[in-house]
Amino acid sequence: MAIMTRTFPLNGSVDIPAVGFGTYLVSNEDAPKAVQAAIECGYRHIDTASGYRNEAAVGEGIRAGLAATGLTRQDIFVTTKLWPGNPAWGDAPKTHEQTLDECETSLQRLGLDHVDLYLIHAPSGGTERLNQWRALIELQRAGKARSIGVSNFNQSHLEEIRSTGLQTPDANQIELHPWSQKPELLAYMAENGIAPIAYSSLVPLSTWRTEEGQASAKTEAMKADSGVFTAMAAKYGVTEAQFLLRWGVQNGYAVLPKSLKPERMRQNIDLEGFTIDEADMEVLRAMDRGQGVAWASGDPSVAE
Ligand code: NAP
Repeated sequence: MAIMTRTFPLNGSVDIPAVGFGTYLVSNEDAPKAVQAAIECGYRHIDTASGYRNEAAVGEGIRAGLAATGLTRQDIFVTTKLWPGNPAWGDAPKTHEQTLDECETSLQRLGLDHVDLYLIHAPSGGTERLNQWRALIELQRAGKARSIGVSNFNQSHLEEIRSTGLQTPDANQIELHPWSQKPELLAYMAENGIAPIAYSSLVPLSTWRTEEGQASAKTEAMKADSGVFTAMAAKYGVTEAQFLLRWGVQNGYAVLPKSLKPERMRQNIDLEGFTIDEADMEVLRAMDRGQGVAWASGDPSVAE
């Protein structure tokens, strides 16, 4: 086995590492050490968000990771996300000006002068959604973000941007795994040059978010077919997590596994030594169970 170092193109001048380190539910206490450990394991993409409330600690981990490995800022790809507001939660949508300020605040917390990718975390900004996107275009032009995109946007949200004639997002970060394959959305994104970034690739694992307060919403149909992944992973002599992450990368999705356990961190980027064969990819294609379970799906304020 070997560490995966491949990248996928995001726009004309920016490539995104195929495997990144996710930091959702990583506390401020854990983040500096976890991010440093991830960089030492070979991760070159760190994904955070204003909404994770850990940007300062993640920034500290990035600095520690660079110091420990002798790498420089240019060697690391950093993503953060605008929290767009959500009127359905009594959280006013961020305006154009507020979006510019939010990015600056995130950069200050991270201790960086730019990020490699800045995303609108969700389409919940309602009437301000397009203004938020216009602000991201400005931020990219000002050099604050090398690439820009969205997250949890469905086809109608993407079409809203495209039909206005604005520059389209470089990427859409969405929940993608064999139970949530979103073929129509992905086809639309491919037609419009919007790269997929997969989150929560490990949902099918029995160990996925099992700690207190991290309850997941797996359906009975999902629970019934988890054995398929176990059996296929055994066939390739890899762990189920490696199998699920490889499935994402083989489909062309950058993946973002999160783990606080160094052994799992190493495993989750060690994806080069095997290829899932076409017959198995075909079986997996038939396992789609529709929308995801990690977040946003089923939330009417986000799905509108
Ligand atoms: P994930 O990375 O798919 O799975 C993490 C869970 O799996 C944790 O419970 C982790 O536990 C466990 N795990 C990790 N590696 C494992 C392994 N090798 N074997 C067994 N169990 C393993 O889930 P996620 O955090 O939901 O998604 C990944 C990242 O995507 C996030 O951290 C975040 O950066 C991003 N994300 C974005 C959005 C969005 O709306 N844009 C939404 C969700 C996630 P331990 O930590 O105990 O190992």
